Amino acid sequence: MTETTNVVLVGAGHAHLHVAAHAQRLIEHGAHVTLISPGDFWYSGMATGMLGGDYEASQDRLDPASLIEAHGGEFVADRVIGIDRHQRLVRLADSPPLAYDLLSLNLGSRVDPSSIFGLSSADNVWPVKPLSGLWRLRQQLESALAGDAEAPSLAVIGGGPTGVELTANLVALYARYGREPNIALVSASERLLPNAPRAAGAWIERRLERCGVRLELAASAVGHQAGELRLDDGMRLNVEHVVLANGLIAPELTGELGLCCDSRQGLAITAALHSPDDSRIFAVGDCAWLRQAPYPKLGVFGVRQAPVLLDNLCAWLAGEALRDYRPQRRYLSVLNLGDGRGLALWDRWWWKGRLALKLKRRLDRRFMAQYGV
Ligand SMILES: Cc1cc2nc3c(=O)[nH]c(=O)nc-3n(C[C@H](O)[C@H](O)[C@H](O)COP(=O)(O)OP(=O)(O)OC[C@H]3O[C@@H](n4cnc5c(N)ncnc54)[C@H](O)[C@@H]3O)c2cc1C
Repeated sequence: MTETTNVVLVGAGHAHLHVAAHAQRLIEHGAHVTLISPGDFWYSGMATGMLGGDYEASQDRLDPASLIEAHGGEFVADRVIGIDRHQRLVRLADSPPLAYDLLSLNLGSRVDPSSIFGLSSADNVWPVKPLSGLWRLRQQLESALAGDAEAPSLAVIGGGPTGVELTANLVALYARYGREPNIALVSASERLLPNAPRAAGAWIERRLERCGVRLELAASAVGHQAGELRLDDGMRLNVEHVVLANGLIAPELTGELGLCCDSRQGLAITAALHSPDDSRIFAVGDCAWLRQAPYPKLGVFGVRQAPVLLDNLCAWLAGEALRDYRPQRRYLSVLNLGDGRGLALWDRWWWKGRLALKLKRRLDRRFMAQYGV
């Protein structure tokens, strides 16, 4: 009889959903597969639409326990708080340690509120990760918007695709209650969507301003105290809520393993998706840093890594050669603008309209349908 190999998947991220759905392949190679996650998978592709009122929370989340169990694996509802590489143990917040032979990390990313003075300790600060916070934000805003009091004032920090998409959907949420948006969008860059074609950025700036959003460009938020957000140009904004979308960074855990890593980018990985210092530890998605070809922190990269990760875990179990992952150079992103239209960005091309959003909705539905049990 062959010995069982413990394959432990930490985090129900995009790539691990795929591995969980194909866990049988690992089991056929003699593995016992365990997926650890503190809760549901929340899908970022539909998260801004959820904030704007297009979707309910139940439509934006998947249950990883049902998924892995339906495919012969085990689920542990917990959070990993440490990894002992010498004993090959995963330490959990609320359960006994778990032994592994092969470990894969798909932990996602976080936002760092400590980059703005006073923000970490303030109330009503909403980092965009974890995504479940956006659902709580919507609930709080809805109960305020449904009342007679003035619409809550809010600042979104970050002028990239996430900040723009969130702002557009907040406008939509306020409009559902017949309210003018009491919203400011603060960005350190001189224009919105600085990495997109200039015309796309200019178009979205005009559109948001026409909707009544106050744009504070070329200004960094530097401090927050008693409901006042301070910008580095001296401007002060009175805000009840701050949504933080100023960039995703790696989770702290990746820096605590004693392996090569970058504090912002994450755990270093080779093209075969494992640590260069420990070939038993794989990492994918936002928590991983492919040093020779760094990729942006976007779910679409985790999706493309998924089949390579699955093949390589199987190859490792079979003692075969691993294959390389190469990040795509171009990728499509479609922003949901909250008004029935989408803004599609593909390399130097962009287009906008209802068809773009229709395409996004179809892709999102297809992704979620793969893993719903
Ligand atoms: C508002 C918003 C909209 C976005 N829209 C898009 C988009 O349209 N397209 C796109 O490609 N990207 C988008 N992104 C980026 C995208 O969210 C991330 O790149 C993506 O979620 C990363 O996926 P992942 O598979 O690495 O991890 P995730 O999908 O974030 O999953 C990580 C999992 O790990 C779990 N976990 C974390 N720590 C631990 C621990 N210690 N122990 C156990 N489990 C743990 C978490 O609970 C979570 O389930 C968006 C981001 C935001 C914030």
